[in-house]
Amino acid sequence: MRSALSTLEVLRPRTLREALRMLSANGARPTPLAGGTDLFVYLNAGTEQATRFLDLSRLAELRGIRVGAREATLGARTTFWEIRRHAALGARLPSLAAAASEIGAWQIQHRATIGGNIANASPAGDSLPALLAHDARVRVASRGGEREIPFDALYTGYRKLAIAPDELVTAVVIPFPPRGSLPFFRKVGTRRAQSISKVVFCGLLACDRRGRAVHARLAYGSMAPTPARARAAEDVLLAGATPQLAAAAARAALGQDLTPIDDIRSDRGYRLQVAGNLLEQFVRSLPAARR
Ligand SMILES: Cc1cc2nc3c(=O)[nH]c(=O)nc-3n(C[C@H](O)[C@H](O)[C@H](O)COP(=O)(O)OP(=O)(O)OC[C@H]3O[C@@H](n4cnc5c(N)ncnc54)[C@H](O)[C@@H]3O)c2cc1C
Repeated sequence: MRSALSTLEVLRPRTLREALRMLSANGARPTPLAGGTDLFVYLNAGTEQATRFLDLSRLAELRGIRVGAREATLGARTTFWEIRRHAALGARLPSLAAAASEIGAWQIQHRATIGGNIANASPAGDSLPALLAHDARVRVASRGGEREIPFDALYTGYRKLAIAPDELVTAVVIPFPPRGSLPFFRKVGTRRAQSISKVVFCGLLACDRRGRAVHARLAYGSMAPTPARARAAEDVLLAGATPQLAAAAARAALGQDLTPIDDIRSDRGYRLQVAGNLLEQFVRSLPAARR
């Protein structure tokens, strides 16, 4: 049954400090509310248990995109529209810009935040493989202070996060990949746009002058209970031969890395087939090695 909005309480802090105090106060802990594009769906479906919310919309500390020399820092309230429209960010992190431009429709992109995508912790979250492939770090704050969590340690199980209940995501820090890295992003859904991913993939490869891989990241969404790195396949790509020669063996290794499920959107076999196709498509898109 739909949640009756009149029974909900919304706290509206003006500063991060005030928000963190409200989050750690005695009594029913409020649930953070950013763009609401996930939470309102849960409220509408009657699956959201929370009745107290912490509106993050006034927190200036959670805003802003800073592009530095080595990494970009995005405030948790950065929307996907802001990401896809940011030229300097798009030039350095094209896979993230590609993910942002494929999340929902424009209306959703104007409200949906990267912090919400991260904290919602869906294995189908489209920005998550891009963050994983770039070795991002999630910055969280509580009244006790601030800390950073490496992205590959963030998800501890299906929709489980290594973030304490009194912590807020304040930013995500994304290092730029090694010079010469080639990125690849592809989302596969029921239709070309505006569908939940059956498989979402972000790859990054850097090769030396002889065409051998020296840096490899293969990150998938919707292929395991959490966003997942295909480390066995990465190792195959890094093992010596060029990615072009190693592609078939890397594809075979995906079976060790990924544990997709059968659900209403797809079955396991289809997902594994698509994951392999995307890996091969990525490798085929690389320039031929110089001899
Ligand atoms: C029509 C539609 C289409 C969509 N399409 C896509 C899609 O293509 N791809 C995709 O990945 N997603 C999609 N989504 C899901 C949603 O838009 C994203 O997950 C979005 O990034 C959520 O961000 P939000 O700001 O709206 O989060 P909210 O709904 O406000 O919050 C989501 C969760 O994160 C928590 N949270 C939010 N901010 C913080 C914070 N700073 N610190 C701690 N916890 C926090 C909330 O408590 C809640 O649990 C779609 C949703 C809709 C309704």
